[in-house]
Amino acid sequence: MRSLQDIDVKDKKVLMRLDLNVPIKEGKITSDARIQAALPTIKMALEKGGAVMIMAHLGRPVEGEYDESFSLAPVASYLSEALAQEVKLVKDYLDNAPQVQSGQVVLLENVRFNKGEKKNDAGLAKQYAQLADVFVSDGFGVVHRAQASTHGVAEYVEIACAGPLVAKEVETLKSILLNPKRPMLAIVGGAKVSSKLLVLKAFIDKVDTLIPGGGIANTFMAAKGYNVGSSLYEPDLLNEAREMLALAKEKGVNVVLPMDVVVADEFSENAKTATKSIEDVAENEMILDVGPQTAELFARVISEMQTIIWNGPVGVFEMKPFSQGTQRLAQAIAESEGFSFAGGGDTIAAINQFNIEDKVDYVSTGGGSMLEYIEGKTLPGLAVLED
Ligand code: AMP
Repeated sequence: MRSLQDIDVKDKKVLMRLDLNVPIKEGKITSDARIQAALPTIKMALEKGGAVMIMAHLGRPVEGEYDESFSLAPVASYLSEALAQEVKLVKDYLDNAPQVQSGQVVLLENVRFNKGEKKNDAGLAKQYAQLADVFVSDGFGVVHRAQASTHGVAEYVEIACAGPLVAKEVETLKSILLNPKRPMLAIVGGAKVSSKLLVLKAFIDKVDTLIPGGGIANTFMAAKGYNVGSSLYEPDLLNEAREMLALAKEKGVNVVLPMDVVVADEFSENAKTATKSIEDVAENEMILDVGPQTAELFARVISEMQTIIWNGPVGVFEMKPFSQGTQRLAQAIAESEGFSFAGGGDTIAAINQFNIEDKVDYVSTGGGSMLEYIEGKTLPGLAVLED
C-alpha cells in the first residue's frame, strides 16, 4: 500500500477522502477531534506542493438532494481558521472542475448529496477520479465502506494511496495483531454480543485474557447459569456464548467475568441501586455496572498486561451511578505500562469523560473499521489501495 509520504504531488491535483463527520449543533462544531486528526494530512499535501481538494461526508442526508442542515459549511470555516488560509466550499464540482492552485485547499460539499455515492456507482466514481491526479484515502473511519468516494474513485484515478492517518492505523493494528507484546488483553464491552460476535471470536484466537463488559458480559454470565434478572442480555446467543467460553478454555484464554455488580430497579439515573454478588441478582433487577471488587480485579489484570485493546464500556457509563466500573477501567489503562489501543464511539466518549486522552497510546479514529480489521475482514477502501 503506497502512502502519501512516498509520492511526489508537486503541482498535482490531490483529491483526498477524509473523515470529517463531526457533530454539529446549531451551526457549531461540538467536537473537532476528527478534523484535528485530519489536519496533518492536509498540511502534508500542501507542504509537498499539491493543489488540495477534500472530499468528506456529513450525517445521512437523502442522496440526490441538497439539504443545508447537512452542509459542510461549518467544516470549511473551521478549516480556514485552522490552516490560516481560505478553504472554499465548492458545490458544483461534478459539473465544473474546481479551480485550485498548488498550495490552495478547497472542500467539496458533502459527497452524500451525490446520487450513487453509497452504492459505489461507477459513473460517479469516474467523475470524482477525473478531478484528480492523485487520490489519497485518509478517512480510516470510512474505509470499511465500499462507496464511490471511499472505493470506486481509487479504481479510476491514476495514482491512489493511503494518507498518513490510514497508514498509521493499519501499521498499528497490524503490529498489535501479528506481533503483540504479551500478555495481551482485549476488553470488549457494550450492549450486545450479536454486534461484536466476530470480534469476540477473533480475540479468543489471539489474546491471553478477555474481559467482556456490559450487556455482553451479562450474556456470558447467563450462559454460565447465573440469574441476570431483567438485565440486557441475549437469550438466543446463550449457546454461542457457551461455545465461546469452551473455546477460550481450550485455548487457555482467561475470560474475566464480574464477581460483583451494581444493580438497579430501572434504567435511569434516579434508579434505586445496590451492589451485590453476581449470585444474588433478583428477577426484577438489572445489572448496569460492575461492582467495586470487579473493578479492582480488572485494574489488577490490566496492570499485568503488555498489550491492551479496548472497545466498549463495562457499564452504562453515561449515567453517573453506573459509571464507576468504566472509570476505574479507564484509570487502570491510563496507568498501565503496556501498549494501550482503544477505539469506537462510546469508548472515545468514555476516554474523554474520564480525561485519559493523553494516556492511551493509540486511539483509533474508526470504530467500525477497527472492529472489521480485527475480525480479519477485507476492508474495501484498503483493498483497493493494495491493488
Ligand atoms: P456498543 O454500542 O455496543 O459499544 O454499546 C455501548 C452502550 O452499551 C453504551 O451506551 C452503554 O451505556 C451500554 N451498556 C453498557 N453496559 C450496559 C449494561 N449493563 N446494560 C445496558 N446497557 C449497557
